Amino acid sequence: MLTLRKRKEICKNMAEETNNQPKPAGEPQPNTRPASSNGAQANQTSGGGQGRRQGNGQNQNGQRRNNNAGGNGRSNNRGGNGNGQRKERGGMGRPPRMRMPKGPQTFVHGSFNGSGNGNSSAPAAPKAAVQLRGVSKTDAGKLKIIPLGGLNQIGKNIMALEYEDDIIIMDMGFTFPGEDQPGIDLVIPDVTYLEERKHKIRGILITHAHEDHVGGIPFILPKIPAPIYAAQFTIKFIERKLEEYKLPFKPELHIVDPDKHDKIQLGVFNVEFLRITHSIPDACSLVIRNPVGTILNTGDWRFEENPVDGKASDKQRLKEVGDEGVMMLMCDSTSCEKTGRSPSEAEIVDTIDEILVRNYNKRVVIAAFASQITRMQIIIDAVAKSKRKLVVVGRSMLNNLELAVKLGYVKIPAGLIIKARDMSKYQDGQIVVVSTGSQGETFSALQRMGTGDHRDVKLKQNDVVILSASIIPGNEKSVWGMVDNLYRWGAYVYQPSTADFDGLGTMHTSGHASIDEIKEMIQLTRPKYYLPIHGEMHHMFHNAAIAKTEGIADENIFVIEDGQTLIADEKGIKEGPKVTSGSVLIDGAGIGDVQEIVLKDRLAMSSDGVFMAIATIDKKTGRLKVSPDIISRGFIYMKDNTELVHKSRQIVQTIFDKRDISTPANSLIIKTRVRDELANYLFKVTKRNPIVLPVVIEV
Ligand SMILES: [Zn+2]
Ligand SMILES: [Zn+2]
Repeated sequence: MLTLRKRKEICKNMAEETNNQPKPAGEPQPNTRPASSNGAQANQTSGGGQGRRQGNGQNQNGQRRNNNAGGNGRSNNRGGNGNGQRKERGGMGRPPRMRMPKGPQTFVHGSFNGSGNGNSSAPAAPKAAVQLRGVSKTDAGKLKIIPLGGLNQIGKNIMALEYEDDIIIMDMGFTFPGEDQPGIDLVIPDVTYLEERKHKIRGILITHAHEDHVGGIPFILPKIPAPIYAAQFTIKFIERKLEEYKLPFKPELHIVDPDKHDKIQLGVFNVEFLRITHSIPDACSLVIRNPVGTILNTGDWRFEENPVDGKASDKQRLKEVGDEGVMMLMCDSTSCEKTGRSPSEAEIVDTIDEILVRNYNKRVVIAAFASQITRMQIIIDAVAKSKRKLVVVGRSMLNNLELAVKLGYVKIPAGLIIKARDMSKYQDGQIVVVSTGSQGETFSALQRMGTGDHRDVKLKQNDVVILSASIIPGNEKSVWGMVDNLYRWGAYVYQPSTADFDGLGTMHTSGHASIDEIKEMIQLTRPKYYLPIHGEMHHMFHNAAIAKTEGIADENIFVIEDGQTLIADEKGIKEGPKVTSGSVLIDGAGIGDVQEIVLKDRLAMSSDGVFMAIATIDKKTGRLKVSPDIISRGFIYMKDNTELVHKSRQIVQTIFDKRDISTPANSLIIKTRVRDELANYLFKVTKRNPIVLPVVIEV
């Protein structure tokens, strides 16, 4: 915990900062603050400790996991219906239009959310000194830790920290829908809690550019506009992503350089980005200093002794932060059930080299995650070494590679890449194709090669395919189905699960820390409290067990789910109240939130089909003009079920014939009666529950 002296220092710094700021007005002042002047006012290093530096990182998300949306009994999808999303956008035309400063960053805390709110940039003074507006006595001097996504599932990570009048947010991801969510494109976290306090939000910190950490931004940012801070690659990735979504305002994005130990003051929070290894460039851990005590959020990480890009995790800085005192470590749980340490990327280099040598005269297709930029460099180096040419297929692969090359994260020797259509000018042994589809994704390049539908790459006898990724649980069926298809063309497939059979070494490393790395992290940082994050329940329990073996007191380790807050004050940390959390389902490119009822309909349609009864009635008399039409899709084959169709017609006919004249034929009452009676009858006869649609046409 911070000493009183340090807290006073923080407050003093912030008071100075506040004085320098433009006077808060009643409305946000989006355009009034030239980027350059910010720097001058900014308070770069207040809060305990001067910063210092960091290493780099990697992973493989984009994972297809079932997120349990309905399963936890949490609020699933907040009464959304299409305007949930739109409503917010409308209301949001107001703030943003901020310039996007580039380069080294010093920042004014508070930013645009804050300045609109009058008091929001007020320093969080020592709790006794000033009673802040809007802060109840019970909240004064307390730090609230609010997980809203990523705890009890791998995906849609988002965690907020709240201290009196300030909130910061760490990560903003999405997850892919489960099989119980047909037609849903994405699942994002429910951020009702944050929407209700959006005037307090000082900034959004992103650890790295994987979708389970950035994917929610286009949908959530409009609801809670706030400046985003991240390292360079992450910011560029977000920038490009947001361009695609065409937000009605210009997001405020700030690049932070972890190697220069940039620090950002956001309200009472002093934030330092610290370089860590993962499977994507510029992954960072976050050091959050605040009046109660330092929080360290690892982000997705592992330790790698020989990182391909030469940027190692900044263990030195981790140790310094540990020396300074860490109140709580929030640690990635994804691979905590694996013993030892995660394999080095260097071992993968050897394996790919080995396969290329063994198949020196054959064409090789390598499938990898488009987001695993580090792996891309390994593949590029191997291709260059084997004197082959490289063909890149798959849109996300091309996009990511282009961005990484532009920013200098991936180096490609001149002339190495050739166009797919020029492949025929080379012999098989001179070609490597790198492609998407390592998880058997439906429209991926490799999947299409398997079905023979890929425009540029037609597989043939003696081709070789390498899946440079392990199968993410849940994807087994699609991956093996695709692999079988690849074999049908006469290709040979190398993949991690059959590496022993092929006498090969490591083919893939996950990007997340195994047990011994987690132990080392705890030893370096020596936290008093421990919070497993980024995992399903079993991951988090095992991660907690590791912390216990490292001597962290049982009562200081929390295994909690989204929505369960923790409250930290000078007495320590304990569980606080539960807050709204859950999932919002996105259908189509952000068209709107989808209601539960829509999902139920889709599920019913996909399992039991649709049964439609069309009654054409006379406008004047309300009597049926012809016998009702029956249409069924995905339910029964009508020609084989004439009895059922006939009886259904009779049911409808009877309802209209016996209708009380005072009830209009086209009323909801009649339609409901048709639906209920038909549904009952159909269930009695078939034991199935199709969606029954009564349609009344007046002529
Ligand atoms: Zn990741
Ligand atoms: Zn992740």
